[in-house]
Amino acid sequence: MGLATPTAVMVGTGLGAENGILIKGGESLERAYHLDTIVFDKTGTITKGEPDVTDILAAPGYSEADLLGLAASVEGLSEHPLAKAITKRALDEKTLGTSVDTVLDFESVSGLGSRGRVGESKIVIGSRKFIESEGVNADIMNESAAILEKSGKTCVFVAKDGKLAGIIALADTIRPSAPRAVSLLKNMGLEVVMLTGDRRETAETIARQAGIERVLAEVLPGDKAGEIRRLQLEGRVTAMVGDGINDAPALAASDVGMQSGRART
Ligand code: ADP
Ligand code: MG
Repeated sequence: MGLATPTAVMVGTGLGAENGILIKGGESLERAYHLDTIVFDKTGTITKGEPDVTDILAAPGYSEADLLGLAASVEGLSEHPLAKAITKRALDEKTLGTSVDTVLDFESVSGLGSRGRVGESKIVIGSRKFIESEGVNADIMNESAAILEKSGKTCVFVAKDGKLAGIIALADTIRPSAPRAVSLLKNMGLEVVMLTGDRRETAETIARQAGIERVLAEVLPGDKAGEIRRLQLEGRVTAMVGDGINDAPALAASDVGMQSGRART
Protein backbone atom coordinates (compact mmCIF):
# COMPACT_ATOMS: atom_id res chain seq x y z
CA MET A 1 0.00 0.00 0.00
CA GLY A 2 2.74 2.38 1.06
CA LEU A 3 4.25 2.29 -2.38
CA ALA A 4 1.20 1.38 -4.46
CA THR A 5 -0.71 4.61 -3.83
CA PRO A 6 2.03 7.08 -4.80
CA THR A 7 2.86 4.92 -7.81
CA ALA A 8 -0.79 4.88 -8.92
CA VAL A 9 -1.04 8.66 -8.49
CA MET A 10 2.16 9.16 -10.46
CA VAL A 11 1.08 6.88 -13.30
CA GLY A 12 -2.41 8.38 -13.29
CA THR A 13 -1.34 12.01 -13.40
CA GLY A 14 1.38 11.09 -15.91
CA LEU A 15 -1.12 9.48 -18.26
CA GLY A 16 -3.40 12.48 -17.79
CA ALA A 17 -0.63 14.88 -18.74
CA GLU A 18 0.15 12.87 -21.87
CA ASN A 19 -3.48 13.35 -22.86
CA GLY A 20 -3.49 17.07 -22.12
CA ILE A 21 -5.14 16.73 -18.71
CA LEU A 22 -3.24 18.33 -15.84
CA ILE A 23 -4.20 16.91 -12.45
CA LYS A 24 -3.21 18.84 -9.34
CA GLY A 25 -2.36 15.71 -7.38
CA GLY A 26 -3.47 12.62 -5.52
CA GLU A 27 -5.88 14.50 -3.30
CA SER A 28 -7.91 15.78 -6.26
CA LEU A 29 -8.07 12.25 -7.69
CA GLU A 30 -9.18 10.88 -4.33
CA ARG A 31 -11.90 13.52 -4.04
CA ALA A 32 -13.03 13.02 -7.64
CA TYR A 33 -13.79 9.40 -6.76
CA HIS A 34 -16.43 10.57 -4.25
CA LEU A 35 -18.17 13.06 -6.56
CA ASP A 36 -21.93 12.79 -7.00
CA THR A 37 -22.64 16.07 -8.82
CA ILE A 38 -21.00 17.70 -11.82
CA VAL A 39 -21.83 21.32 -12.60
CA PHE A 40 -21.04 22.62 -16.08
CA ASP A 41 -20.80 26.30 -16.92
CA LYS A 42 -22.85 26.86 -20.08
CA THR A 43 -20.89 29.34 -22.15
CA GLY A 44 -17.60 28.01 -23.45
CA THR A 45 -18.02 24.63 -21.78
CA ILE A 46 -21.31 23.07 -22.89
CA THR A 47 -21.32 25.48 -25.83
CA LYS A 48 -18.40 26.53 -28.01
CA GLY A 49 -18.40 30.01 -26.51
CA GLU A 50 -18.34 31.61 -29.95
CA PRO A 51 -21.75 33.21 -30.44
CA ASP A 52 -22.92 34.66 -33.75
CA VAL A 53 -25.52 37.34 -34.35
CA THR A 54 -28.62 35.70 -35.85
CA ASP A 55 -31.38 38.33 -35.61
CA ILE A 56 -31.50 42.12 -35.45
CA LEU A 57 -34.89 43.51 -34.43
CA ALA A 58 -35.02 47.29 -34.50
CA ALA A 59 -37.64 49.21 -32.53
CA PRO A 60 -39.78 51.77 -34.41
CA GLY A 61 -37.65 54.72 -35.47
CA TYR A 62 -34.47 52.69 -35.98
CA SER A 63 -33.10 50.80 -38.94
CA GLU A 64 -31.24 47.52 -38.41
CA ALA A 65 -28.03 49.30 -39.44
CA ASP A 66 -28.63 52.05 -36.83
CA LEU A 67 -29.27 49.51 -34.10
CA LEU A 68 -26.24 47.42 -34.95
CA GLY A 69 -24.00 50.50 -35.16
CA LEU A 70 -25.20 51.79 -31.82
CA ALA A 71 -24.64 48.44 -30.13
CA ALA A 72 -21.26 47.84 -31.75
CA SER A 73 -19.98 51.30 -30.79
CA VAL A 74 -20.33 50.43 -27.10
CA GLU A 75 -19.55 46.70 -27.35
CA GLY A 76 -16.36 47.46 -29.26
CA LEU A 77 -14.82 48.28 -25.90
CA SER A 78 -16.04 45.12 -24.15
CA GLU A 79 -14.21 41.81 -23.92
CA HIS A 80 -17.41 39.78 -23.56
CA PRO A 81 -17.96 37.08 -26.25
CA LEU A 82 -21.44 38.52 -27.02
CA ALA A 83 -19.85 41.96 -27.48
CA LYS A 84 -17.16 40.52 -29.78
CA ALA A 85 -19.82 38.86 -31.94
CA ILE A 86 -21.82 42.10 -32.23
CA THR A 87 -18.68 44.06 -33.13
CA LYS A 88 -17.74 41.50 -35.76
CA ARG A 89 -21.19 41.63 -37.33
CA ALA A 90 -21.02 45.43 -37.50
CA LEU A 91 -17.70 45.22 -39.34
CA ASP A 92 -19.20 42.71 -41.79
CA GLU A 93 -22.07 45.11 -42.46
CA LYS A 94 -20.02 48.25 -42.83
CA THR A 95 -20.85 48.40 -46.53
CA LEU A 96 -24.56 48.26 -45.65
CA GLY A 97 -24.31 51.54 -43.81
CA THR A 98 -23.52 50.44 -40.28
CA SER A 99 -21.18 52.93 -38.70
CA VAL A 100 -19.39 52.67 -35.41
CA ASP A 101 -18.99 55.81 -33.33
CA THR A 102 -16.67 56.93 -30.58
CA VAL A 103 -17.78 56.00 -27.09
CA LEU A 104 -17.16 57.92 -23.91
CA ASP A 105 -17.66 56.89 -20.27
CA PHE A 106 -17.63 53.20 -21.19
CA GLU A 107 -18.44 50.86 -18.35
CA SER A 108 -18.71 47.09 -18.34
CA VAL A 109 -21.05 45.52 -15.78
CA SER A 110 -20.04 41.91 -15.19
CA GLY A 111 -22.76 39.38 -16.06
CA LEU A 112 -25.17 42.11 -17.14
CA GLY A 113 -23.92 44.27 -19.98
CA SER A 114 -22.24 47.55 -20.90
CA ARG A 115 -22.90 51.25 -20.74
CA GLY A 116 -21.47 54.18 -22.63
CA ARG A 117 -22.13 57.54 -24.20
CA VAL A 118 -22.25 58.15 -27.95
CA GLY A 119 -22.33 61.88 -28.64
CA GLU A 120 -24.96 63.25 -26.26
CA SER A 121 -26.80 59.91 -25.99
CA LYS A 122 -26.62 57.43 -23.18
CA ILE A 123 -26.49 53.83 -24.45
CA VAL A 124 -27.25 50.80 -22.29
CA ILE A 125 -26.85 47.30 -23.67
CA GLY A 126 -27.22 43.88 -22.07
CA SER A 127 -29.70 41.48 -20.54
CA ARG A 128 -33.34 42.44 -20.09
CA LYS A 129 -32.80 42.48 -16.33
CA PHE A 130 -29.98 44.98 -16.82
CA ILE A 131 -31.77 47.45 -19.08
CA GLU A 132 -34.92 47.23 -16.95
CA SER A 133 -32.86 48.01 -13.87
CA GLU A 134 -31.75 51.12 -15.79
CA GLY A 135 -35.40 52.14 -16.14
CA VAL A 136 -35.94 51.03 -19.74
CA ASN A 137 -39.29 49.49 -20.69
CA ALA A 138 -38.70 46.50 -23.01
CA ASP A 139 -42.29 45.28 -23.22
CA ILE A 140 -42.74 45.90 -26.97
CA MET A 141 -40.07 43.25 -27.66
CA ASN A 142 -41.30 40.73 -25.07
CA GLU A 143 -42.98 38.39 -27.52
CA SER A 144 -40.14 38.41 -30.04
CA ALA A 145 -37.58 37.85 -27.30
CA ALA A 146 -39.57 34.94 -25.86
CA ILE A 147 -39.64 33.19 -29.24
CA LEU A 148 -35.89 33.72 -29.78
CA GLU A 149 -35.06 32.52 -26.25
CA LYS A 150 -37.19 29.40 -26.63
CA SER A 151 -35.02 28.45 -29.59
CA GLY A 152 -31.90 28.74 -27.42
CA LYS A 153 -30.77 32.19 -28.53
CA THR A 154 -29.49 34.90 -26.21
CA CYS A 155 -31.19 38.28 -26.56
CA VAL A 156 -29.21 41.43 -25.99
CA PHE A 157 -31.31 44.55 -25.41
CA VAL A 158 -30.16 47.96 -26.61
CA ALA A 159 -31.47 51.24 -25.22
CA LYS A 160 -30.75 54.84 -26.14
CA ASP A 161 -31.56 57.61 -23.67
CA GLY A 162 -33.81 55.36 -21.60
CA LYS A 163 -35.82 54.02 -24.57
CA LEU A 164 -35.57 50.62 -26.23
CA ALA A 165 -33.80 50.76 -29.62
CA GLY A 166 -34.14 47.03 -30.31
CA ILE A 167 -32.78 43.60 -29.60
CA ILE A 168 -29.96 41.61 -31.09
CA ALA A 169 -30.16 37.82 -30.82
CA LEU A 170 -27.12 35.58 -30.78
CA ALA A 171 -26.71 31.83 -30.99
CA ASP A 172 -23.90 29.75 -29.57
CA THR A 173 -23.83 26.10 -30.65
CA ILE A 174 -23.35 23.27 -28.23
CA ARG A 175 -20.13 21.27 -28.48
CA PRO A 176 -20.81 18.10 -30.49
CA SER A 177 -19.20 16.05 -27.69
CA ALA A 178 -21.43 17.49 -24.93
CA PRO A 179 -24.42 15.10 -25.14
CA ARG A 180 -22.15 12.05 -25.03
CA ALA A 181 -20.12 13.41 -22.11
CA VAL A 182 -23.31 14.13 -20.19
CA SER A 183 -24.75 10.68 -20.85
CA LEU A 184 -21.50 8.98 -19.80
CA LEU A 185 -21.52 10.92 -16.52
CA LYS A 186 -25.18 10.09 -15.90
CA ASN A 187 -24.45 6.40 -16.51
CA MET A 188 -21.79 6.66 -13.82
CA GLY A 189 -24.59 7.72 -11.46
CA LEU A 190 -23.65 11.40 -11.32
CA GLU A 191 -26.14 14.24 -11.36
CA VAL A 192 -25.32 16.76 -14.06
CA VAL A 193 -26.24 20.44 -13.57
CA MET A 194 -25.80 23.44 -15.87
CA LEU A 195 -24.94 26.88 -14.47
CA THR A 196 -25.24 30.14 -16.39
CA GLY A 197 -25.88 33.86 -16.25
CA ASP A 198 -28.11 33.55 -19.29
CA ARG A 199 -31.94 33.58 -19.24
CA ARG A 200 -33.78 30.48 -18.06
CA GLU A 201 -35.57 29.89 -21.40
CA THR A 202 -32.34 30.08 -23.41
CA ALA A 203 -30.46 27.96 -20.89
CA GLU A 204 -33.12 25.25 -20.77
CA THR A 205 -33.12 24.83 -24.54
CA ILE A 206 -29.33 24.41 -24.58
CA ALA A 207 -29.51 22.07 -21.56
CA ARG A 208 -32.11 19.90 -23.28
CA GLN A 209 -29.85 19.58 -26.34
CA ALA A 210 -27.05 18.40 -24.06
CA GLY A 211 -29.30 16.05 -22.04
CA ILE A 212 -29.11 18.09 -18.83
CA GLU A 213 -32.28 18.43 -16.73
CA ARG A 214 -31.22 20.60 -13.80
CA VAL A 215 -30.48 24.21 -14.75
CA LEU A 216 -29.32 27.08 -12.55
CA ALA A 217 -29.95 30.16 -14.73
CA GLU A 218 -29.66 33.94 -14.40
CA VAL A 219 -26.84 33.59 -11.90
CA LEU A 220 -24.50 36.59 -11.76
CA PRO A 221 -20.76 35.82 -12.04
CA GLY A 222 -20.28 36.76 -8.37
CA ASP A 223 -23.02 34.35 -7.28
CA LYS A 224 -21.76 31.27 -9.14
CA ALA A 225 -19.55 30.16 -6.23
CA GLY A 226 -22.55 30.57 -3.89
CA GLU A 227 -24.58 28.16 -6.02
CA ILE A 228 -21.80 25.56 -5.70
CA ARG A 229 -21.77 26.04 -1.92
CA ARG A 230 -25.54 25.61 -1.86
CA LEU A 231 -25.21 22.23 -3.60
CA GLN A 232 -22.52 21.27 -1.08
CA LEU A 233 -24.90 22.22 1.76
CA GLU A 234 -27.36 19.71 0.26
CA GLY A 235 -24.61 17.21 1.05
CA ARG A 236 -23.38 16.90 -2.52
CA VAL A 237 -19.74 16.36 -3.42
CA THR A 238 -19.54 18.72 -6.34
CA ALA A 239 -17.22 19.26 -9.26
CA MET A 240 -17.38 22.42 -11.32
CA VAL A 241 -16.36 22.38 -14.98
CA GLY A 242 -15.74 25.73 -16.62
CA ASP A 243 -13.46 27.68 -18.89
CA GLY A 244 -12.23 30.07 -16.21
CA ILE A 245 -14.10 33.04 -17.69
CA ASN A 246 -16.59 34.32 -15.07
CA ASP A 247 -16.46 31.02 -13.24
CA ALA A 248 -13.05 31.00 -11.51
CA PRO A 249 -14.48 31.52 -7.97
CA ALA A 250 -16.95 28.67 -8.58
CA LEU A 251 -14.09 26.44 -9.75
CA ALA A 252 -12.27 27.27 -6.53
CA ALA A 253 -15.35 26.72 -4.32
CA SER A 254 -16.09 23.25 -5.70
CA ASP A 255 -14.71 20.02 -4.24
CA VAL A 256 -12.92 19.46 -7.54
CA GLY A 257 -12.54 22.27 -10.09
CA MET A 258 -12.01 21.25 -13.69
CA GLN A 259 -10.97 23.94 -16.11
CA SER A 260 -11.12 23.31 -19.82
CA GLY A 261 -8.88 25.30 -22.06
CA ARG A 262 -7.69 25.25 -25.60
CA ALA A 263 -4.14 24.16 -26.19
CA ARG A 264 -2.10 27.13 -27.37
CA THR A 265 0.28 25.99 -30.04
P1 ADP B 1 -22.50 33.11 -18.90
O1 ADP B 1 -22.84 32.57 -17.55
O2 ADP B 1 -23.27 32.41 -19.98
O3 ADP B 1 -21.02 33.13 -19.15
P2 ADP B 1 -22.45 36.00 -18.40
O4 ADP B 1 -22.49 35.96 -16.92
O5 ADP B 1 -21.16 36.37 -19.04
O6 ADP B 1 -23.02 34.62 -19.01
O7 ADP B 1 -23.59 37.00 -18.94
C1 ADP B 1 -24.94 36.82 -18.56
C2 ADP B 1 -25.87 37.62 -19.44
O8 ADP B 1 -25.59 39.02 -19.28
C3 ADP B 1 -25.71 37.37 -20.92
O9 ADP B 1 -26.51 36.29 -21.36
C4 ADP B 1 -26.17 38.70 -21.52
O10 ADP B 1 -27.57 38.75 -21.57
C5 ADP B 1 -25.71 39.71 -20.51
N1 ADP B 1 -24.40 40.33 -20.83
C6 ADP B 1 -23.27 40.26 -20.10
N2 ADP B 1 -22.29 40.98 -20.66
C7 ADP B 1 -22.80 41.51 -21.80
C8 ADP B 1 -22.30 42.37 -22.83
N3 ADP B 1 -21.05 42.84 -22.84
N4 ADP B 1 -23.13 42.69 -23.83
C9 ADP B 1 -24.39 42.24 -23.85
N5 ADP B 1 -24.93 41.44 -22.92
C10 ADP B 1 -24.17 41.09 -21.90
MG1 MG C 1 -19.13 33.16 -19.12
